Amino acid sequence: MSRSFVAAIDQGTTSTRCLLFDRDGRMVSVAQRPHQQHYPRPGWVEHDAAEIWRITRELLPQALDDAAVDPGEVVSLGVTNQRETTVVWDRATGEPVGPAIVWQDVRTADRLGELTDHVDESWLAERTGLPLSSYPSGPKLRWLLDGDPALRERAQAGELLFGTMDTWLVWNLTGGLHVTDVTNASRTLLMDLRTLAWDPELLACMHVPVSMLPEIRPSIGVVGTTRHGVPGIPIGALVGDQQASLLGQTAFDAGEAKCTFGTGSFLLLNTGTEIVRSTSGLITTLAANAEGEPATYALEGSVAAAGSLVEWCRTSLGLIRTAPEIETLAGTVADNGGCVIVPAFSGLYAPHWEPDAQGTVLGLTSYIEKGHLARAVLEAVAWQTRDVVDAMTQDAGSAMAFLAVDGGMTANNLLMQTVADVLDVPVIRPMMAESVSLGAAYAAGLAVGYWSDRSVLRSHWHRAAEWRSEVTADDRERAYAAWRDAVALSIAWGR
Ligand code: ADP
Repeated sequence: MSRSFVAAIDQGTTSTRCLLFDRDGRMVSVAQRPHQQHYPRPGWVEHDAAEIWRITRELLPQALDDAAVDPGEVVSLGVTNQRETTVVWDRATGEPVGPAIVWQDVRTADRLGELTDHVDESWLAERTGLPLSSYPSGPKLRWLLDGDPALRERAQAGELLFGTMDTWLVWNLTGGLHVTDVTNASRTLLMDLRTLAWDPELLACMHVPVSMLPEIRPSIGVVGTTRHGVPGIPIGALVGDQQASLLGQTAFDAGEAKCTFGTGSFLLLNTGTEIVRSTSGLITTLAANAEGEPATYALEGSVAAAGSLVEWCRTSLGLIRTAPEIETLAGTVADNGGCVIVPAFSGLYAPHWEPDAQGTVLGLTSYIEKGHLARAVLEAVAWQTRDVVDAMTQDAGSAMAFLAVDGGMTANNLLMQTVADVLDVPVIRPMMAESVSLGAAYAAGLAVGYWSDRSVLRSHWHRAAEWRSEVTADDRERAYAAWRDAVALSIAWGR
């Protein structure tokens, strides 16, 4: 049998990766490059979409070259992406009209009512599955158009296009195809969760001209063929990163869940074809669906700051030189020394949805040294996970038997142990912790019949490591009480 591979482009918050996978789900090539993070004002986060496209178009041929794979041997390409990040570009020139507003950005936080024409929040949540927050892309788009009358005029005239990173990359890869998928569209606040179509009432609330919007497609299904980067590859899937990692973890069935620890952390529970409404502060969102299949949904606990807190320690504080050093530093002390950090850099997402919450460091004394701060950083990531797991347990009506994890931060053993300690459930990492990329490849492969169905993919999943709680219930609950107090202070400080 001749060789063949599937490719994935994983356009993340901090970097872009191009990968090749074989039929056994083994990664045979990976090319990766970071892009610039811009923080022009407190709470603002921007990317340069043109830079991200430049990087992507170079990485794709590099991934093939590195593994000596011919373009003709790549049967399908899956694109997965940081969600909600908002790009607007000129339909004629392809040039972005300004910086991309990144999902973590809070510039819309204090104008959310105005940006949605003061529509009833519960109506909005019912229609979109999303709480009103700075997170989705619709209000970001309106913010851009409201801020510049010339831009709004051009948008009304049909000269401008909107997209999240999936849309932006596919438009560039294909030379002008303007599409997105249901998972990305479900994060805009513009799509009806039930019809999977742009909703005219929502578009009216956010003053978005429909001519700017991409066509919404299923996540799994060929949308077109590449003309740039490496020409001639069918694009078999578009899927938001967290929904991709649900696939990569083979959480195909209702009741299966995973948690990804990257820039933020995201716990998703597959709820099958049922739209489950959260009463505990979770998002209802689309899971990846295939052309011709009924829509499937997920409950999601989104946490804005996880790896970004480690990045902040590295770039802004100079506490560490590389991200993995946070573990070494935290290992120099036995505990947090009384220090608690709440990383509300983008307000607090699930389950609190407090856009104005401010980050806090509590319990400082002259006893505190760098190691204690490092430990408080890892504990903050773990406690935020506990908050969303508790919400998920409440909504699902049953406790999780274990937590399947993936993402860049899962290389940190002390963090994974701390997560197991605070959850008191086993934490399990698969051999292939790049679940986002793998999921995009799975989706792309399924679209072209490279894999016959999802069940064959389950055999690729292998357990690599497992952590179990090593703390007493008393210690856990005492520390949890301190965390909850710190969260309350972080919220109060922002008011
Ligand atoms: P994304 O897809 O959001 O860009 P990744 O899954 O690539 O994220 O993970 C990168 C994030 O994980 C960065 O924020 C980085 O600081 C953090 N990270 C990577 N390795 C470690 C580590 N060993 N310990 C703690 N954090 C880490």
